[in-house]
This record gives sequence, C-alpha cells and structure tokens, in this order.
Amino acid sequence: MAILVTGGAGYIGSHTVLYLLEKGEEVIVFDNLQKGHRKAVMKDVPFYEGDLHDSSLLDTVFSKHNIEAAIHFAANSLVGESVKDPISYYRNNVSGSLNLVDRMVKNGVKKIVFSSTAAVYGEPENVPIQESDRTQPTNPYGETKLAIERLLHWADQAYGLKSVALRYFNAAGADPKGRIGEDHTPESHLIPIILEAALGKRPHVSVFGEDYATEDGTCVRDYIHVMDLADAHYRALEKLKSTNESSVYNLGNGKGFSVKQVIGTCRSVTGRTIEAVASPRRAGDPAILIASSQKARDELGWIPKYPNLNQIVEHAWNWHLNHPDGYADGGSDDGLK
Ligand code: UDP
Repeated sequence: MAILVTGGAGYIGSHTVLYLLEKGEEVIVFDNLQKGHRKAVMKDVPFYEGDLHDSSLLDTVFSKHNIEAAIHFAANSLVGESVKDPISYYRNNVSGSLNLVDRMVKNGVKKIVFSSTAAVYGEPENVPIQESDRTQPTNPYGETKLAIERLLHWADQAYGLKSVALRYFNAAGADPKGRIGEDHTPESHLIPIILEAALGKRPHVSVFGEDYATEDGTCVRDYIHVMDLADAHYRALEKLKSTNESSVYNLGNGKGFSVKQVIGTCRSVTGRTIEAVASPRRAGDPAILIASSQKARDELGWIPKYPNLNQIVEHAWNWHLNHPDGYADGGSDDGLK
C-alpha cells in the first residue's frame, strides 16, 4: 500500500518523503512545483505535477496506485503574504484541501496526516503551549490551517475520515546526510537567512524587534529539526493505522531560543562574521512561541533525535555550504551518488 504525499517537493515534505523511503514505504508525490523543487525528490519516486483543484488528476492518482493514506503538506505558508493576499491563501489552502478530502472520500481513502502550524494558536495563552489551549489565529495563514483542521474533524464525523493534525513550531535544519535541504524563494525564515549572510549572499541579518518582553528583547521560538518532524509524520501514520483515531499534536523541542541566541549559534557553527542590524518589529510576531510536545511524546513515542540547536544549524549549514544556490546546485539524486 502506498502513501500519497502532497507537497512532497517542499521543504518539510521532501524530508518526510526521504524518511518514509528509508523506512521502506511506497511513496507517491503530488506537487504543483510552485514552491517545491523536483530535485528534492529522488527520480524513481512516482511524481505528479499538479494542483489540488485538479479532481481528474487526483482521481487518476487514486485509481493508478493502491493508496492507503495521504500526508498533506501542499499549502502556501508565509504569514506576511497571507495578510496581503488572503484570497489566494483561502483558495489554495482551504479550497485545495477541501478538494483533496473530497477526492479521498470518493476514492475510499480514509486516513490523512495533516501539516498544521503553531500559527493556529495566535497570541499564546500559556508557555509552553498545549494542544487544548485556545486557538485564535492572528493571520489568514493560521486561519486557513485551523479551517482545514475543523474540516477534518467534521469529515471524521460524517465519512469516517481519520486524521492526525501536526502543529509544527519552527522547522529548521536539513537532511543530516546532506542530500536535501531548505531552499525558498524568497527566503523569509531566520536560520537560512542568517546562513545566507554567513555565505556573503546578504550584507546582514535584520533583527525584527529588540524590545520584546524577553530576556534579551528579541523573539523566542522553538526550533525543531526537519527530520524529527519527518519521524513524527511516520509515527502519526503508524498510529492512525493501529488505532484508527483522529488526534492533534504539537511538534516542537519544548525549548526556546531568542533571535540573538540563534545568530550567536550560527556564528559559532559557521565561524563566519555575521552582522546583525536592529530593525523594526515584524507585524504579527508573538514574543514567545514554545510548544509542549508532551502529548506527541506520550502517544506517538516521539523523541526528537536532534534537539540541540547547534546540531540543527550544523545540518542546515552543511547544505547551504554545499548548495549556495540551493537546488540549482543539485538535488537528492546527486547527494546519493
Ligand atoms: N526574524 C528576524 N529576522 C529575519 C527573519 C526572522 O529577526 O530576517 C525573526 C522573526 O521575527 C521571528 C523569528 O526570527 O521572531 C523566527 O522567524 P521565522 O520567519 O523563521 O519563523 P516564524 O516564527 O515566523 O514561523
């Protein structure tokens, strides 16, 4: 039986595909390649380039392969962009997922692991954040992910579609073996931006706000290794198969690092000069986001293998150093040679 991975050519999706292949799973990738990279997926994996609104292509995939479950990453995922263009976020994320769920139900595929986000919480009530805390997104991106979680809840009631929603905190790092990594255009995430500055591709790193109510005044985030996220998806799928019960989990390290601490770690890992420039706050950034992942640890037996920020940055740096132009410098198959 195969697993359909939508958005399997994206950053977290491609690392999960690699991880599933290493576990011996049969994987089918579906991606529109708007943000993803064909080279992030090994050549011999069945690959469908298409949009989630394309019902006939989805039906073809479901009829051609014996698909048991989907892992659904395909989405737009930039907070700032979602504020500027909510219609495209609702269309791509909510309406695209609605169509995927519709085609899954029609084709009798009743298990889905869904890529959700810490952004569903909005300004947190508690630190660390628990799954039962209030969900009140402060931007359209978080709203669309929460809307899909609610759709999945009702699809379980109505059609018996079982789901696990995984709410990620800050995904970071790269394949420890250096085959694939993070390549976004434009890049907006802190660690790759700092590493681009280390490579001289940017003059400096802008620190968005130094007047937050945190120890050094900069925002604190919970960085989790992308391969640990991949492992959580695999475990979520195993749990769906064995219990056939829907659930929701936070995925984070449970530890927070400030922007200044992350820059310090990147300086020490890379040994390069990295200039940091104080800049205004970025709209919509909460001061502190830290996950309680106790539920995932207890129920999925998930224990992050790379909890150390140094190691997360080392793996990201290894990829950036060998691929200064991202996938333009090669991809998963090159790395395997
Ligand atoms: N950040 C920053 N400079 C940058 C990019 C990000 O100071 O060039 C900060 C951002 O304000 C946030 C943290 O780094 O507090 C992590 O941001 P990122 O975009 O990586 O992830 P997010 O927390 O938004 O999911």
